[in-house]
Amino acid sequence: MSDWNTRTKLVHGGTRRSQYNEVSEAIFLTQGFVYETAEDAQQRFLKAGDDEFIYARYGNPTVRMFEDRVAALEGAEDAFATASGMAAVNGALTSMLRAGDHVVSSRALFGSCLYILEEVLGRFGVEVTFVDGTDLDAWRSAVRPETKAVFLESVSNPTLEVIDLKGVAEIAHAVGATVIVDNVFATPVFSRALELGADVVVYSATKHIDGQGRCLGGVILGTREFIRKTVEPYLKHTGGAMSPFNAWVLLKGMETLDLRVRAQAAGAQAVAEALDGDPRLERVIFPGLPSHPQHDLARGQMGSGGTVLSIDVKGGQAAAFRFLNALEICIISNNLGDAKSIATHPATTTHQRLPDEQKAALGITPGLVRISVGLEDVGDLVADIRQALDSTV
Ligand SMILES: *Cc1c(COP(=O)(O)O)cnc(C)c1O
Repeated sequence: MSDWNTRTKLVHGGTRRSQYNEVSEAIFLTQGFVYETAEDAQQRFLKAGDDEFIYARYGNPTVRMFEDRVAALEGAEDAFATASGMAAVNGALTSMLRAGDHVVSSRALFGSCLYILEEVLGRFGVEVTFVDGTDLDAWRSAVRPETKAVFLESVSNPTLEVIDLKGVAEIAHAVGATVIVDNVFATPVFSRALELGADVVVYSATKHIDGQGRCLGGVILGTREFIRKTVEPYLKHTGGAMSPFNAWVLLKGMETLDLRVRAQAAGAQAVAEALDGDPRLERVIFPGLPSHPQHDLARGQMGSGGTVLSIDVKGGQAAAFRFLNALEICIISNNLGDAKSIATHPATTTHQRLPDEQKAALGITPGLVRISVGLEDVGDLVADIRQALDSTV
């Protein structure tokens, strides 16, 4: 399996067949498993074999197929699936940290990630230093001998700053810190995170992996040692397990992941190019545009600009709202990576909680609209966005 190429891994990776030899992956919608004898139960609790399960909070055959398929795709030794992306972020951090540890994190984070790093970790005696993720000198001066982990989103939400993974990993590894990367915006298709030095990669599977807006899910990827000795004991006892039904939905989503993400990325590139320079916009932010400050880095690190762009509509919040309300194809919602194009106003929704100064520091201006490009016809999307921009002036 390890020498298969991406699309083959996405279709066949991790498949386990029951005695019926079914074609489509089976959903083992069961919480538990029957032991033939009391001795078998004792033995399995002592050490469960590869095809032996105990309780769905610990593991389940459908969930294991999903874990193995994502691990194969990412090139990771192992994976642990979780109920949501946030369960994965929280599980990766809290399973390995303890009081007295220090963490360095980039400042531009998804709201819930920021909550864990700003609010939760501190309560348990973990100190967190926030830095401008794009400034390697800032990472260099923030790490210390007791820095246990660094955390970052490889492409930040919603301002799409691209962080130099290789650079940050070198700085972190010099003090022995574990590099944990939330890689949602890079997508598993364009990720080279492990190769560039990440130790642990986290995804919200709710985004591109499902890609059709059906369910929540998350996954933590890393070495077998880290996943089975650090992550699994923590998660199996604290309850962030993925539902077998969701694992099945996500497995089926993975079959088309490469096709969808590449089509969406091509769409995002075309939309960004069509809107670049539009007089009704302050700016178009997209890593695939040469005007993006980390354009070359994005090209080297992902080979793509990704599937999401942000536009800053002239006229502030009122104009941004007029734009959103005039869209006919793009829906107003807050998911991303979906087959349906989705427009979001971060300042009043996903990042509403942040004080105005923090929004300003992160570039979350009142006119900023994030657009996740879906699978619609690109010409239709550009026409829809242009007609909606007409209503802003
Ligand atoms: C959506 C998202 C999450 C959280 O994932 P859920 O599945 O919604 O819990 C974490 N990080 C990033 C960057 C995200 O976009």
